[in-house]
Amino acid sequence: MKSFYDLLSQKKKQSILPIFGFADVSAWEKETKYPTAPDFYPTNIFPEAKTVIVIGVPVVLPILETTPSVYYNEHQNNLNVVLENEIITLSSFLNRLGFASMPTARGGYSEMSVLIEKPMAAFSHRHAAYHAGLGAFGRNNVFLTKKYGPRVRFATILTAATQSELGVSKKKQKKSIAQKKKFEKNGLCIDCMACSKFCPIQAIGGDSKNTYPVVKTDKSRCAAYLDELGKKGTSRCGVCIKVCPVGKDRILFDRRNISIYNESEIGGEKKERLIRAWNHIRDYGTKK
Ligand code: SF4
Ligand code: SF4
Repeated sequence: MKSFYDLLSQKKKQSILPIFGFADVSAWEKETKYPTAPDFYPTNIFPEAKTVIVIGVPVVLPILETTPSVYYNEHQNNLNVVLENEIITLSSFLNRLGFASMPTARGGYSEMSVLIEKPMAAFSHRHAAYHAGLGAFGRNNVFLTKKYGPRVRFATILTAATQSELGVSKKKQKKSIAQKKKFEKNGLCIDCMACSKFCPIQAIGGDSKNTYPVVKTDKSRCAAYLDELGKKGTSRCGVCIKVCPVGKDRILFDRRNISIYNESEIGGEKKERLIRAWNHIRDYGTKK
């Protein structure tokens, strides 16, 4: 029978789950650069946990560019459904194999007013992705990957299986630890400050000398703004991940020049066509 690792590799090949990784729960306790309080350790959520399994799906850039729009709203919801389905099915598969496992909540809040008051979830998928060596934190708390920049949604499974029991070879375990160290040292953020400059409510600190975790997004204000947009039925902002120049998806979609997002400034023919397309989508399906 194929191992759990092989199963995820197969899903990656089929582009069902393009991103996945594993981390030992001990990584949370050892962390010094991006520590989380012990309450947020995987073992505090699921005491039996030995390994954290992280999966990710990319946000499609041309849909994100229409934000705020019903297109992006639906896209976000659909990506969450894909992730929820996968973590439920994969956990159930592991349980059947005899490895106690649980999926964590993808979003983890009941309504936006809760997030405005207390802008944190019980578990951070971004930290899980970081410990699995999948990328690096950006200057605010966005999580950057090489392929898709910050345009990835993550979800997590906690399991009592060890990485070896999941079929992750020692060589692969060492490789992801080395990868994490490399990202930690070199990062992926190029300190362009675009996320800060383009944020419509200036919720991201503009101090160019410092970065996350010193610089933090004002999550309560961000949540209040997202709530405002959500009431109109549109997507919940996402401008900071839209404008980030990191990610190979920018090459695929030919969006290397982020000045296209200065929508009020005059640009060339391509920019005009893009803005016309975004505005057309924004004009339909939501309240004004
Ligand atoms: S989601 Fe929007 S409001 Fe929130 S930090 Fe990013 S750009 Fe600012
Ligand atoms: S937009 Fe620029 S500063 Fe912000 S996370 Fe991306 S690379 Fe870093």
